Amino acid sequence: MSKVLIIGAGGVGSVVAQKCASVPEVFSEIMLASRTKSKCDAIAQRVGGNRIKTAQVDADNVQELVKLINSFKPELVINVALPYQDLTIMDACLETNVNYLDTANYEPKDEAHFEYSWQWAYQDRFKAKGLTAILGCGFDPGVCSIYTAYAAKHHFDEMHYLDIVDCNAGDHGKAFATNFNPEINIREVTQNGKYWENGKWVETKPHEIKLALNYPNIGPKNSYVIYHEELESLVKNFPTLKRARFWMTFGDEYLTHLRVIQNIGMASIEPIMYKGIEIVPLQFLKETLPNPGDLGENYTGETSIGCRIRGIKDGKEKTYYVWNNCKHQDAYNETGMQGVSYTTGVPAMLGALMFLTGKWKKPGVFNVEEFDPDPFMELIGKYGLPWQEEINGNLEL
Ligand code: NDP
Repeated sequence: MSKVLIIGAGGVGSVVAQKCASVPEVFSEIMLASRTKSKCDAIAQRVGGNRIKTAQVDADNVQELVKLINSFKPELVINVALPYQDLTIMDACLETNVNYLDTANYEPKDEAHFEYSWQWAYQDRFKAKGLTAILGCGFDPGVCSIYTAYAAKHHFDEMHYLDIVDCNAGDHGKAFATNFNPEINIREVTQNGKYWENGKWVETKPHEIKLALNYPNIGPKNSYVIYHEELESLVKNFPTLKRARFWMTFGDEYLTHLRVIQNIGMASIEPIMYKGIEIVPLQFLKETLPNPGDLGENYTGETSIGCRIRGIKDGKEKTYYVWNNCKHQDAYNETGMQGVSYTTGVPAMLGALMFLTGKWKKPGVFNVEEFDPDPFMELIGKYGLPWQEEINGNLEL
């Protein structure tokens, strides 16, 4: 029986709140707080039964967070606001002696820069206080890192090649929309690509490496190597990896829009003056794009995300593919949100459940692959994201 504070009332926060509310035996009291309280209230109303308390908070402000945390006294804070708020929320957790979980690594607002160093720097302080911080517990990062830990534990003596493959074969019927926060999403996909090979990072131009990969129940989709944050912790925690890459599918239409957006300067995070007001073009663009939280109703198709791994078991080469497919309509019917919010929110809830039931509890700051994957893998299907595996199939990579 535990109290949790969820921060962030977007698509992901909505799924986390609903999923936590559906497990009252673990999440006995839930508070949902965000910048705009009316969004929290709407989610609480959808859940019903007075299960969710709501509050307004500016998560950029440590003292506001401290006040809220002290008034509610949760055991764990689930941070599903934006990556910009990770450090202020971690600071507030330290000040109030509360545990922490998030789904995306910290990013400074003025630089599209993805690395864990800022959050790993909290290791000693969390450890000294006996608190746990669980980093990156969405789908990717999150479930894919747990799949990798599971593969290492049960299928390989040594893993050599890891390819995380993220396919969204959904159609939301809009000319251009992003599946999660547009600002964060566009920063992520327009940066240079990067992958790990033979002990060092290899940089590529954005979308330079392209292959049509086959996804279960979907078929071939153009997939591109991009940099994704979990690669940093995975190559550190699984040092036998000779190569680790992250592939994401993009449709031609999406890439054309993205190219235009970049060419006309709308993807820029450099502030400009407009009629005497300083604006950031990408933040302005976000306001004009569809809200990812509203895409669900007409979203058809499904996502397929997994890990393709090659390595050695009992002296022989072995391949292993583990994945989940999630239909946008199923996610929408259950939670009112599309598949990308769902595949992020369900693992965040389950990571919280892992912590609160004592299965993932150790002092310090950890990426999810540093915990025992088994109890998570046992339950994730029950909560909506069943997984499948194929042994010694053709990985195509
Ligand atoms: P949204 O933009 O839909 O929601 C973000 C929420 O955070 C909004 O409710 C917003 O408030 C709130 N927020 C923003 N700034 C503040 C602040 N200063 N104080 C309080 N609340 C604030 O994003 P998503 O729900 O799509 O994504 C949430 C998180 O999940 C992001 O960090 C994203 O990177 C991560 N993610 C992780 C994935 C994974 O697989 N690991 C995949 C997809 C997303 P307001 O409503 O007022 O704007």
